[in-house]
Amino acid sequence: MIIRVATEVVLDKLYDYAVPVALVPKIKPGLRVRVPLGSRVVDAYVVEVLEGGGSDESELPLFSGKPAEQSTGRQYKLRYINAISDEIPFVSENLLKLVQWMADYYCAPFEQSLRCILPAAVRSKSMRSKEQIYVEIQQGDFKLTKRQSELFTEIKRVGGGWLSFLTREFSCAPGTIRNLEKSGAVKIELRQVWRDPLANRKVLPTRPMELMPEQSAALKSISALIDQSANGEKTAPILLHGVTGSGKTEVYLQAIAKVLEQGRGAIVLVPEIALTPQTVQRFAARFGKRIAVLHSALSEGERFDEWHRIRSGKADVVIGPRSALFAPVRNPGLIVVDEEHEPSYKQDETPRYHARDVAVVRGVMEGCVVVLGTATPSMESWNNVQSGKYNHVALTKRVSDRPMPDVYIVDMRIEAASARHAQIFSAPLMEAIKLRLERGEQTILFLNRRGFSNSLQCPECGHVAECQECNVAYTYHQSDSCLRCHICGGWKHVPATCSECGEPVLKYAGYGTQRVETALRKCFSQARVLRMDADVTTRKSSHDELLTIFRTKQADILIGTQMIAKGLDFPNVTLVGVLNADISLHMPDIRASERTWQLLAQVSGRAGRADLPGEVFIQTYSPEHPSIRVAGGFESFETLAERELKERREWCYPPFTHLVCLIFRGKSEQKTALAAKCYADALKKGSPSVIVSDAAPAPLPKARGFYRYQILMRSPSTMKMVKILRALMACQSPGEAVRMSIDVDAVNMM
Ligand code: ADP
Ligand code: ZN
Repeated sequence: MIIRVATEVVLDKLYDYAVPVALVPKIKPGLRVRVPLGSRVVDAYVVEVLEGGGSDESELPLFSGKPAEQSTGRQYKLRYINAISDEIPFVSENLLKLVQWMADYYCAPFEQSLRCILPAAVRSKSMRSKEQIYVEIQQGDFKLTKRQSELFTEIKRVGGGWLSFLTREFSCAPGTIRNLEKSGAVKIELRQVWRDPLANRKVLPTRPMELMPEQSAALKSISALIDQSANGEKTAPILLHGVTGSGKTEVYLQAIAKVLEQGRGAIVLVPEIALTPQTVQRFAARFGKRIAVLHSALSEGERFDEWHRIRSGKADVVIGPRSALFAPVRNPGLIVVDEEHEPSYKQDETPRYHARDVAVVRGVMEGCVVVLGTATPSMESWNNVQSGKYNHVALTKRVSDRPMPDVYIVDMRIEAASARHAQIFSAPLMEAIKLRLERGEQTILFLNRRGFSNSLQCPECGHVAECQECNVAYTYHQSDSCLRCHICGGWKHVPATCSECGEPVLKYAGYGTQRVETALRKCFSQARVLRMDADVTTRKSSHDELLTIFRTKQADILIGTQMIAKGLDFPNVTLVGVLNADISLHMPDIRASERTWQLLAQVSGRAGRADLPGEVFIQTYSPEHPSIRVAGGFESFETLAERELKERREWCYPPFTHLVCLIFRGKSEQKTALAAKCYADALKKGSPSVIVSDAAPAPLPKARGFYRYQILMRSPSTMKMVKILRALMACQSPGEAVRMSIDVDAVNMM
């Protein structure tokens, strides 16, 4: 028998090995095995069983010690694997298929894709389950001294326990307890300790709520799909389109309960920033110890234990950010992707997968139902609903008829004119903040800023310079003072005057959260102000700490970046101010409009969550822009989405094409630029159905001492682009000292 394996040590190459006859019956895909590699013995995973016989010669032109694809047409004697490490496959066959799919689709090495499925804690040699000495009470009559008898009674009273705990509790030496074992009163043994990430949480169990009519209807649709999939029928994903506060989570919870009843498991994905203790609490309160949490803040030991609890079936509901999608849940019946439109589902290192898209693929492979939940669907998912590929169910009302907040659009051009200068707070917003301070209610002020991307906006009329070819904002590059388009690679010099109003153009002078804080303290000296952005939340716990301060009303105003936009539920917040909606509107990004309305809807959703009604003020220089109008309720989501999709189709943008972004990085600007240019020229010869941009400096042209150049490819078929790219890479390296990274379905172009 010959097997093809992925080793732990070599990145993108698979190797073939022979299997000793004695081990043949046990070999299955996904098993972990020990194999010789050079002079070492390493761990490897069986990817494929190539042939069933007992031969130790490969018919295939392959040989071990050299990669599988290095074919020479000759027969080679294969080396034998040394041993099988586990009895049950470490990776399920379905997950193995998923790894292969990711490697192919995202143009990533197989081994690196495999790493998504096997976290470092699980692969690590040194990581073991943790064991401690446990003291178990025995029944019967024992010969004990008076002192021993007293101690035994005490231990009996607490029902036995860890040795370390008992010695502390009853102030005795370990030897004293061990002596009890000699007389048979207790049994002492090593037992596994579960490093439980939720150990210190007090969780009060909750029961399913009685659903609102829309929630019931949604659950019914999802349940029908669950039943279909239980019968082995194929099901299409379902988009649960519910406004903020409409009770989507309760629908998830009850749908999960249903799959658990059928003996199947569930995975719930949430964006990393939304994975707050609050969210985890809601799931733990319903499903108790069946919950496993997987996220980046776990210790390696916790991660190891959670992973094995899932694999062994002890935990069958997994909640976590994108990586939790790969949890080894046995027989999953449901995958929920909450906030499916969130760009943070895209991984920004190899493999650059999109968890929502891979969730749909895993759903197909496992034959399970996929629910995509959101208040503001991505254009990808919405288009799939429109074309009938996805099911759709809507929640249009907030729970208990709580009203949506009142949204006011503030035209900053008028404000600027009346104040004779551009400013941070408009008069109506100032007034509203003052009112909240008087009433003892809370305010959130929101400012989205990505430092390096600068568009050129006229401070008089608000006009933003755009590339006429591509319909996206130009990015201002300071180094050579020109405007660049990041879609086609075109550029022009900064104009002297605004093309709309003729005023002299200035680079838009933005401000950050820090300046907002200073200005706020000046205007409202009595207010307690809290700022939350990447600068102040670098410590692991500071994020939670700041939120606790705000929740417990020890602060009046919270200023923050997109970090505060999602998932948070503060009953006392009645005012939300968006200081400059234009920042995201004029990102040099084809999804700028989409991002803006998603952001505004999410931020607005923070106001008036409980009994107090909420107000939202959106400050903007572009009040007539559809994305702003829809936030103000002047336009429906459906109309907006229809127009956006029409535009995207015209411009050949996603979801009508896929985008592949190639980034070239190098210490030498000249070499990097040249490498990118050579690749762009070669790729342009690939296929008429693939649009290839010119090579150009990336929006972030230099980072950590490396120059960055980019090429964008667009085509309705990802596979076509990947094929052209692979063919090129096989015969032409990006060049000396230049590294290339490939981002398939890029969402953040930097
Ligand atoms: P979403 O996820 O759609 O923003 P949530 O699931 O957070 O909304 O629900 C908003 C609030 O409404 C929560 O406090 C939740 O406990 C409550 N809620 C949800 N469903 C019901 C229901 N059927 N009856 C009463 N309260 C509900
Ligand atoms: Zn352009």
